[in-house]
Amino acid sequence: MQNINEIDELVKLISKLPGLGPKSAKRIVLKLINNREELIKPMAKTLAEIYKNISRCKICGTLKTNSIECSYNNCTIIEKKYDKVCVVESIGDQWSIENSNIYKGYFHILGGTVSSAGQKKEDLLINSLVERVKRDKIEEVIIATSATVEGMTTAYYIADSLKGINVKISKLAQGLPVGGEIENLDDGTLFSAFKNRNGVGNNVD
Ligand SMILES: [Zn+2]
Repeated sequence: MQNINEIDELVKLISKLPGLGPKSAKRIVLKLINNREELIKPMAKTLAEIYKNISRCKICGTLKTNSIECSYNNCTIIEKKYDKVCVVESIGDQWSIENSNIYKGYFHILGGTVSSAGQKKEDLLINSLVERVKRDKIEEVIIATSATVEGMTTAYYIADSLKGINVKISKLAQGLPVGGEIENLDDGTLFSAFKNRNGVGNNVD
Protein backbone atom coordinates (compact mmCIF):
# COMPACT_ATOMS: atom_id res chain seq x y z
CA MET A 1 0.00 0.00 0.00
CA GLN A 2 1.24 3.49 -0.82
CA ASN A 3 2.06 5.85 1.97
CA ILE A 4 -0.43 8.66 1.74
CA ASN A 5 -1.15 10.29 5.09
CA GLU A 6 -4.79 11.11 4.42
CA ILE A 7 -5.56 7.59 3.28
CA ASP A 8 -3.73 6.04 6.24
CA GLU A 9 -5.70 8.27 8.55
CA LEU A 10 -9.02 7.27 7.00
CA VAL A 11 -8.15 3.57 7.22
CA LYS A 12 -7.30 4.07 10.89
CA LEU A 13 -10.59 5.83 11.56
CA ILE A 14 -12.73 3.28 9.74
CA SER A 15 -10.96 0.41 11.56
CA LYS A 16 -12.42 1.84 14.77
CA LEU A 17 -15.97 1.17 13.62
CA PRO A 18 -17.79 -1.87 15.02
CA GLY A 19 -17.06 -5.10 13.21
CA LEU A 20 -14.32 -3.64 11.00
CA GLY A 21 -10.63 -4.44 11.09
CA PRO A 22 -7.80 -2.87 9.05
CA LYS A 23 -8.43 -5.23 6.12
CA SER A 24 -12.09 -4.34 5.64
CA ALA A 25 -11.27 -0.70 6.37
CA LYS A 26 -8.85 -0.72 3.39
CA ARG A 27 -11.53 -2.21 1.15
CA ILE A 28 -13.99 0.48 2.23
CA VAL A 29 -11.46 3.24 1.60
CA LEU A 30 -10.74 1.86 -1.88
CA LYS A 31 -14.45 1.77 -2.62
CA LEU A 32 -14.72 5.38 -1.47
CA ILE A 33 -11.84 6.74 -3.53
CA ASN A 34 -13.12 4.95 -6.58
CA ASN A 35 -16.48 6.65 -6.13
CA ARG A 36 -15.60 10.22 -5.36
CA GLU A 37 -18.80 11.83 -6.58
CA GLU A 38 -21.30 9.14 -5.54
CA LEU A 39 -19.83 8.36 -2.13
CA ILE A 40 -17.09 10.66 -0.83
CA LYS A 41 -18.83 13.91 -1.64
CA PRO A 42 -22.31 13.18 -0.18
CA MET A 43 -20.80 11.30 2.76
CA ALA A 44 -18.49 14.18 3.69
CA LYS A 45 -21.44 16.55 3.50
CA THR A 46 -23.73 14.32 5.57
CA LEU A 47 -21.07 13.68 8.21
CA ALA A 48 -20.41 17.41 8.54
CA GLU A 49 -24.15 18.06 8.89
CA ILE A 50 -24.60 15.36 11.51
CA TYR A 51 -21.63 16.68 13.45
CA LYS A 52 -23.03 20.19 13.37
CA ASN A 53 -26.77 19.59 13.74
CA ILE A 54 -27.40 16.36 15.63
CA SER A 55 -26.64 15.66 19.26
CA ARG A 56 -28.02 13.83 22.26
CA CYS A 57 -30.70 15.64 24.23
CA LYS A 58 -29.26 16.60 27.61
CA ILE A 59 -32.53 15.69 29.33
CA CYS A 60 -33.74 12.39 27.86
CA GLY A 61 -30.55 11.34 26.06
CA THR A 62 -32.08 10.58 22.69
CA LEU A 63 -30.86 12.00 19.40
CA LYS A 64 -32.21 15.35 18.39
CA THR A 65 -31.75 18.08 15.84
CA ASN A 66 -30.05 20.95 17.63
CA SER A 67 -32.32 23.61 16.19
CA ILE A 68 -35.56 22.17 17.55
CA GLU A 69 -36.85 21.12 20.92
CA CYS A 70 -36.64 17.42 21.68
CA SER A 71 -40.16 16.45 20.72
CA TYR A 72 -39.45 13.07 19.23
CA ASN A 73 -41.72 10.98 21.49
CA ASN A 74 -39.77 12.37 24.30
CA CYS A 75 -39.04 15.57 26.17
CA THR A 76 -41.52 18.09 24.94
CA ILE A 77 -44.89 16.49 24.97
CA ILE A 78 -47.37 18.30 22.82
CA GLU A 79 -49.87 16.08 21.12
CA LYS A 80 -49.06 12.75 22.70
CA LYS A 81 -49.08 11.88 26.34
CA TYR A 82 -47.75 8.65 27.73
CA ASP A 83 -47.66 7.44 31.29
CA LYS A 84 -44.63 5.15 30.91
CA VAL A 85 -40.94 5.75 30.46
CA CYS A 86 -38.55 3.01 29.41
CA VAL A 87 -34.96 3.44 30.61
CA VAL A 88 -32.27 2.00 28.34
CA GLU A 89 -28.49 2.18 28.18
CA SER A 90 -28.01 3.27 24.59
CA ILE A 91 -29.69 4.76 21.56
CA GLY A 92 -29.21 1.37 19.87
CA ASP A 93 -31.39 -0.17 22.58
CA GLN A 94 -34.05 2.47 21.98
CA TRP A 95 -34.01 1.73 18.24
CA SER A 96 -34.40 -2.04 18.84
CA ILE A 97 -37.35 -1.58 21.16
CA GLU A 98 -39.00 0.90 18.79
CA ASN A 99 -38.55 -1.44 15.84
CA SER A 100 -40.15 -4.30 17.70
CA ASN A 101 -43.35 -2.28 18.25
CA ILE A 102 -43.94 -3.77 21.67
CA TYR A 103 -43.78 -0.60 23.69
CA LYS A 104 -45.61 2.70 23.48
CA GLY A 105 -44.20 5.35 25.74
CA TYR A 106 -41.29 7.67 26.36
CA PHE A 107 -37.66 6.63 26.36
CA HIS A 108 -34.85 7.69 28.61
CA ILE A 109 -31.36 6.90 27.34
CA LEU A 110 -28.71 6.79 30.05
CA GLY A 111 -25.70 6.75 27.76
CA GLY A 112 -23.92 3.91 29.56
CA THR A 113 -24.00 2.01 32.80
CA VAL A 114 -23.01 2.93 36.32
CA SER A 115 -19.87 0.85 36.17
CA SER A 116 -18.84 1.33 32.53
CA ALA A 117 -15.16 2.24 32.31
CA GLY A 118 -14.70 5.96 32.67
CA GLN A 119 -18.42 6.50 33.13
CA LYS A 120 -19.35 8.90 35.89
CA LYS A 121 -22.72 8.52 37.56
CA GLU A 122 -23.36 12.23 37.00
CA ASP A 123 -23.15 11.75 33.23
CA LEU A 124 -25.84 9.09 33.16
CA LEU A 125 -28.85 11.42 33.08
CA ILE A 126 -30.31 9.79 36.18
CA ASN A 127 -31.12 13.13 37.82
CA SER A 128 -32.99 14.23 34.73
CA LEU A 129 -34.90 10.92 34.78
CA VAL A 130 -36.07 11.66 38.31
CA GLU A 131 -37.11 15.16 37.19
CA ARG A 132 -39.01 13.82 34.18
CA VAL A 133 -40.87 11.26 36.26
CA LYS A 134 -42.04 13.98 38.62
CA ARG A 135 -42.75 16.62 35.98
CA ASP A 136 -44.63 14.41 33.51
CA LYS A 137 -46.51 12.50 36.20
CA ILE A 138 -45.14 9.20 34.93
CA GLU A 139 -46.95 6.15 36.30
CA GLU A 140 -44.45 3.45 35.42
CA VAL A 141 -40.70 3.38 34.90
CA ILE A 142 -39.62 0.29 33.00
CA ILE A 143 -35.94 -0.43 33.54
CA ALA A 144 -34.60 -2.12 30.42
CA THR A 145 -30.89 -2.33 31.13
CA SER A 146 -28.87 -5.32 29.95
CA ALA A 147 -28.67 -8.60 31.81
CA THR A 148 -25.01 -7.94 32.60
CA VAL A 149 -23.46 -7.14 35.97
CA GLU A 150 -23.16 -3.48 34.91
CA GLY A 151 -26.76 -3.42 33.66
CA MET A 152 -28.09 -4.96 36.87
CA THR A 153 -26.07 -2.59 39.05
CA THR A 154 -27.43 0.31 37.04
CA ALA A 155 -31.01 -0.96 37.42
CA TYR A 156 -30.53 -1.10 41.17
CA TYR A 157 -29.10 2.40 41.20
CA ILE A 158 -32.03 3.78 39.18
CA ALA A 159 -34.61 2.14 41.44
CA ASP A 160 -32.80 3.61 44.42
CA SER A 161 -32.78 7.10 42.88
CA LEU A 162 -36.55 6.91 42.40
CA LYS A 163 -37.20 5.95 46.01
CA GLY A 164 -39.94 7.98 47.63
CA ILE A 165 -41.56 9.01 44.36
CA ASN A 166 -45.04 7.65 43.77
CA VAL A 167 -44.27 5.65 40.63
CA LYS A 168 -44.39 1.98 39.75
CA ILE A 169 -40.96 0.60 38.88
CA SER A 170 -40.60 -2.55 36.84
CA LYS A 171 -37.76 -4.47 35.28
CA LEU A 172 -37.73 -6.56 32.13
CA ALA A 173 -38.45 -10.22 32.87
CA GLN A 174 -35.74 -12.62 33.93
CA GLY A 175 -36.13 -14.45 30.62
CA LEU A 176 -33.43 -12.18 29.27
CA PRO A 177 -30.37 -14.25 28.50
CA VAL A 178 -27.59 -13.53 31.00
CA GLY A 179 -25.15 -11.11 29.41
CA GLY A 180 -27.86 -10.22 26.90
CA GLU A 181 -27.64 -6.70 25.58
CA ILE A 182 -31.03 -5.25 24.69
CA GLU A 183 -29.82 -4.09 21.30
CA ASN A 184 -29.03 -7.65 20.19
CA LEU A 185 -32.22 -9.37 21.32
CA ASP A 186 -34.76 -10.66 18.84
CA ASP A 187 -38.29 -9.29 18.87
CA GLY A 188 -39.77 -12.45 20.45
CA THR A 189 -37.42 -12.31 23.43
CA LEU A 190 -38.02 -8.57 23.84
CA PHE A 191 -41.77 -9.09 23.65
CA SER A 192 -41.89 -11.65 26.44
CA ALA A 193 -39.42 -9.64 28.52
CA PHE A 194 -41.75 -6.63 28.34
CA LYS A 195 -44.93 -8.61 28.80
CA ASN A 196 -43.67 -10.46 31.85
CA ARG A 197 -41.86 -7.56 33.45
CA ASN A 198 -41.62 -7.62 37.23
CA GLY A 199 -42.33 -4.93 39.74
CA VAL A 200 -39.36 -3.73 41.78
CA GLY A 201 -40.57 -3.62 45.40
CA ASN A 202 -42.97 -1.09 46.80
CA ASN A 203 -41.39 2.20 45.97
CA VAL A 204 -43.27 4.51 48.22
CA ASP A 205 -41.78 5.05 51.66
ZN1 LIG B 1 -35.13 15.00 25.08
